[in-house]
Order: sequence, then structure tokens, then C-alpha cells
Amino acid sequence: MMPKLTICGGGNAAHVLLALAAAAGWQVDIFAPLGNEAERLTTGNGVSAKFSHKTIFGRARRISANPAEVVPGSELVLLALPAFAHGDILAAIAPYLEPAAAVGALPARSGFDYQVRDILRPEKPSLQIFGLQTLPWACRITEYGQSVEVLGAKAAVDMAVFPPHTASGLAEKLTTLLGLLVTPVRSFLTLTLANTGQLIHPGIMYGLGRGKEEAVFSAAEIPLFYQGVDPPTADLLQAMSDEVQAISRSVAAQSADVDPEQVVSLYNWLLRAYPNQIDDSSSLRLALTTNRAYAGLRLPTRPAGPNTFAIDFTARYLSEDVPFGLVVLRGIAEIAGVQTPAIDRVITWAQERLQKEYLVNGQLAGAHLSETRAPQVYNILDFGFKKSSKN
Ligand code: NAD
Repeated sequence: MMPKLTICGGGNAAHVLLALAAAAGWQVDIFAPLGNEAERLTTGNGVSAKFSHKTIFGRARRISANPAEVVPGSELVLLALPAFAHGDILAAIAPYLEPAAAVGALPARSGFDYQVRDILRPEKPSLQIFGLQTLPWACRITEYGQSVEVLGAKAAVDMAVFPPHTASGLAEKLTTLLGLLVTPVRSFLTLTLANTGQLIHPGIMYGLGRGKEEAVFSAAEIPLFYQGVDPPTADLLQAMSDEVQAISRSVAAQSADVDPEQVVSLYNWLLRAYPNQIDDSSSLRLALTTNRAYAGLRLPTRPAGPNTFAIDFTARYLSEDVPFGLVVLRGIAEIAGVQTPAIDRVITWAQERLQKEYLVNGQLAGAHLSETRAPQVYNILDFGFKKSSKN
């Protein structure tokens, strides 16, 4: 019998996964509760994923907005969703999961394991939980429910698995399914500390957006995102990366869960992730501005008037990477007893843009902290995870 998996979500990543998994011999069901996505996916009748060197076609067995129709019987459940949708989706699928299913997110963002343990594991202690560090592809749907284009694919992606001793079998399975190397890291805590998106995205938004909150641009004037990184922004990113290194060393001294070797500096991560795409790697700033993989990408914007644009401060670079990234990191720093002035500066500015309050007078005590995945939200107050329930 074909093994069965359920993809949760109906966006770009879900389209790519459908084609890959079906082509790899999985029976694929899709849980797509948002709007009328289930209906639109059903009408599409199969998805072609166009990679640079091949096109893969896959069709789902069943697509539904009702988890009872698709989740039961799945050995693998993949969340291909922005992190702010994880909680609702996990709650919806919880009653229908097989007791020993593997449930994972791509990408996990930070603190995914806290949320899954809180929502799923009390009832289903045998679940396997995993998270990928990044989405392996830059991808865009070309026709909803029918075709998706893969603009770039990573050669390898890091993954955390709980319980950790089950990592190698799952990594092998996912390597075959996704067609790229899936490499286990020591723990979810390591994966969270090594999440560089939570530094780069809010850090550059702060560097380029601060003082331009009300600015209006023509299309040609919208600042370049990575290529626009100026020396002060590069200094800020360096300071944030240095803080992560300090947190990682401190946590590693308190917990065997963290391998500090797997939490590399931002600069070293760039060199490793883009070995052939950086023209001048002589500084962190140049490694960003001369990275061909980043060329041409601009600040996220929203229409501000006829043919004019303003910076979109609700874009995922803040709405995803702050509550499901930087704030989680800040929470870990607090447990580790490490000061994070650069990270605090970015959170303080970003929360105002998001109209949220996470950090107040240097304390993680804001009214909206419970909407984040900071460990404190789950009563995790030390690295032994002694108090692992939210209640
Ligand atoms: P997307 O915007 O195409 O898909 C989002 C999908 O998530 C929606 O179509 C819907 O099915 C689901 N969703 C969103 N909000 C929901 C809600 N409240 N309830 C239920 N379902 C909801 O996103 P994507 O491009 O597939 O990206 C998925 C993740 O990968 C995100 O975290 C994104 O930041 C990340 N990512 C994407 C790319 C890319 O190139 N597409 C690259 C790097 C990282």
C-alpha cells in the first residue's frame, strides 16, 4: 500500500509539495481550510511544479477543508504555512492524528516545538515532531491549483526532530521525498537559535525602514532589500548575530540540547548557504549586497496612492519573523541570562509597526506576548523544560 501524507495549506509551498510527494509515490491528501482554497485546488485537478531542470506532476487523492476527511491514516503531516497559522491548524488536526504520526512544519520558524507539545503532545505523547529550518524552495504559484514555478532550490536543509533519536530515519525519508539533503541538527533549541531569517528580515526592515514610516515611493524608488544594506544596518545585523552567539554559548553551558557549532554566525551562514553566489565576501555587508541570489529583491510595500507605494510593515518579514522569531530568541536569552540590546532595539521598533506589545521596559511582559512562541508563554523557564504545560 502507498504510504499516505497530508499537506496542510494551499499556498506556494503546498503546491510544490503536492507535486513532489505524489511523484515520489505517496498518496497525498490536502487539508486547506482557508477561504475556498479546497474547492479551487479540487477544480485544478493536479499540479505541475516547474523546476529549472524538470517538471513534475502530481495529483491529490482527496482535498478538503474538513480535517476529518483527510488527516486520519496519515503517517506524515506537513504544515506548509506561515507560522501565524500553525496554532489554528494544529488545533484543527489534533483529534484526527494517528498516535505515532510525524507532524512537521516547513519552515518551522522559532519555538514550533513548544507550540506542538502544548497543543498535540498531551493527548498524543507518541507523535514525532519535526521542523525544517527553511522552506527549501523560492516558489510562486503560476496558476492556482494547477502550476507552480520553483525559482530556486536549496541543496540541503537543516531539520530538528523530537524525540531526537528518531531523526536519522525521518531525515532519510524526507531526503527522498523532497529531493534534497535533509540534515538533522541536535535539537529544536539549536534550530531556533540558528534561525537566521529572524535576524536578517527584521534587522533589514529596521535598518531601511526606520525613519521612513511615512515615506512614499514610486515603483522605481522602492529601496532594494539586501542590496540596500548600508553600513549601519550591517553593523546592526552583526550585533544581533553576536548576541545570538552569546546566547548559544550560555545555553550550551546549561543544556546538552544545544550544539554551539551548529549555531553559526550570520556571516558564516551566508558563506555556507550561498557558496557560489556571493561576488565579494570580504565583509558581512558585501556578502549581502553582492549575493546574486538576493539581487533585485525590494522592501515589501503596499499601494499608497495611484502609482505610489509605502513600506508594508505588516509583511511577513515582521509579522512572522518577530513573534515567531526574534521574540522567541529574546525569551531564550532571558532564560540564559544574556543581555540583547540590539535585538531589543529591533523588537521595540517592530512591535510598534505591528501595533503589538511584546517587550515593555526591557521585560517580556507585553499585552500580546501570548500571541508569540516565547518559551515563557508555555511556562518554560529553564532549559530542563521542567514546567512544560501552558496551564
Ligand atoms: P503562501 O502565502 O503561498 O501560503 C499561505 C497558505 O497558508 C495559504 O494559501 C493558506 O493555505 C494557508 N494559510 C494562511 N493563513 C491561514 C490561516 N489563518 N488558516 C489556515 N490556513 C492559512 O505561503 P508560502 O509561500 O507557501 O510560504 C509558506 C511558508 O514558507 C511561509 O512561512 C513563508 O514565509 C515561507 N517561505 C516561502 C518562500 C516562497 O518562496 N514561497 C520562501 C521562503 C520562505
